[in-house]
Amino acid sequence: MTAKLIAVTDPATGLPIGTTAVFLTLGSALVALFQASEPAPAGGSGFRWICLGCLDHSTYPDPRQTARNNANTHAAECRAIPLPTAA
Ligand SMILES: [Zn+2]
Repeated sequence: MTAKLIAVTDPATGLPIGTTAVFLTLGSALVALFQASEPAPAGGSGFRWICLGCLDHSTYPDPRQTARNNANTHAAECRAIPLPTAA
């Protein structure tokens, strides 16, 4: 089993390419909502989210509103803090 790459990070921002919204978690990490490379199962643009604190993420693309709600719900519950980065 191989890990599936769900997001490609933009080195300029540290956020996934295609990020359209960012949510702040309880632990001051960020949850990024971004346009997925795949469409939503029911058609239309697919969106995913990933938490940059605990690395939890959506398992499949959803319509934007669904993915946004799930990202916001995760941000409201996640207490992971961002990983330290080397200077
Ligand atoms: Zn999280």
